[in-house]
Amino acid sequence: MEDRQFRNAMGKFATGVNVIATEVDGEAYGMTANAFMSVSLDPKLIVISIGDKAKMLERIRESGKFSVNVLSCEQQEESMRFAGQKQFEDKFEFGELAGVPVVEDAVCQLSCEVYNEHTEGDHVLFIGKVNDLTLTDGEPLIFNCGKYRELKELELEEVR
Ligand code: FAD
Ligand code: NAD
Repeated sequence: MEDRQFRNAMGKFATGVNVIATEVDGEAYGMTANAFMSVSLDPKLIVISIGDKAKMLERIRESGKFSVNVLSCEQQEESMRFAGQKQFEDKFEFGELAGVPVVEDAVCQLSCEVYNEHTEGDHVLFIGKVNDLTLTDGEPLIFNCGKYRELKELELEEVR
């Protein structure tokens, strides 16, 4: 099976878009990631998946902490910035939540500590224990079939 065919298949599954952020030696770093899932309610656990070539991998191992920032539909530029899809001149200003850098105006910010890690193929799964979170009412950014999109609410047909 070709990689492209597999990616096209995975791209059919619409997701939100996150920026994962962490801090090492006083420097904050971000990386765009859509591989994310809620794992457990007791304790509150989530999982992210980081490619073995991503610089974020060693950064998270070193800090033992990371944030997951669910981007709003107005934050496509933030997604492109932290995926290296577009270069920006200005410095990015992170906020802070429970000692971890976060992206301001994200629809949800989760501040996590590394609870466990599992290497699977060419990615590493980090299980994060959620220590704090924030929520806003904004609409999320969507990623589907390799494109950024917005959510559209469907009207249910009345059942007679
Ligand atoms: P870098 O290449 O160092 O950082 C990535 C970019 O962020 C660079 O352009 C850098 O300049 C910028 N940046 C980092 N920190 C700062 C800062 N403090 N201020 C300003 N700019 C900064 N990869 C995965 O492993 N897992 C996924 O789930 C995943 N999902 C993705 C979903 C989407 C929609 C997209 C577009 C990409 C996804 N990727 C995913 C790919 C991943 O985002 C890129 O491979 C990324 O470039 C890897 O970054 P890096 O950790 O190697 O760090
Ligand atoms: P794409 O068509 O590559 O992505 C579609 C889907 O394929 C993604 O949502 C993801 O589920 C899967 N996918 C893509 N690359 C993968 C990888 N290296 N490992 C595991 N699953 C992967 O979309 P695109 O617009 O071409 O993506 C932009 C860039 O971001 C590409 O370089 C892509 O590899 C990378 N990306 C990586 C991941 C990941 O590592 N989990 C996820 C999404 C995008």
